[in-house]
Amino acid sequence: MIHPDKVKEEAKKKANENYKFRTYLKGHADELKLDRQFLRLHKELFDGYDCNKCRNCCKMYKGSIPEKDIQRDSEYLGDQFIDFFLEKNEYETGYQTKHMPCDFLQKDGACKLGDCKPDSCKKYPYTDQPGRLFSLLGVLDAVEVCPVAFEIYERLKKEYRFKGR
Ligand code: SF4
Ligand code: SF4
Repeated sequence: MIHPDKVKEEAKKKANENYKFRTYLKGHADELKLDRQFLRLHKELFDGYDCNKCRNCCKMYKGSIPEKDIQRDSEYLGDQFIDFFLEKNEYETGYQTKHMPCDFLQKDGACKLGDCKPDSCKKYPYTDQPGRLFSLLGVLDAVEVCPVAFEIYERLKKEYRFKGR
């Protein structure tokens, strides 16, 4: 598995090839078969991988907290939670942390929100979710951040015998 510190740089080097593979998949892959491949690789590669040693997804994005989570999170972290950690996001549809890396990321890699962390964080990098054929641009974004998503994409290239042409 690629080291978390290297993933962005290596993904940038492969940006053209990765985009071409995305185009190839759009033209050739079967939607359901592709979801099964993603799911299998997701389970295989996340099994035994310690995300606490990476946390690129918490370092390279601000935390995004939907409106519906605010009450629950305030009960968990206290009433000052919004003023202390959050600001409205640019679309005013919810909140985001004031800083990047995410303000909830702790030194040991744990999330200060614990089980109250947003669904978007729990699901990231979404490689086990259905509809991957229609979300390949999002996959390409994740490939630049997440070592596991990077490796899944590399393995898929092998499974499709994609040579980068
Ligand atoms: S989901 Fe991906 S980016 Fe986030 S901590 Fe785990 S391996 Fe790293
Ligand atoms: S809320 Fe927690 S899991 Fe989500 S980005 Fe912030 S530290 Fe990471």
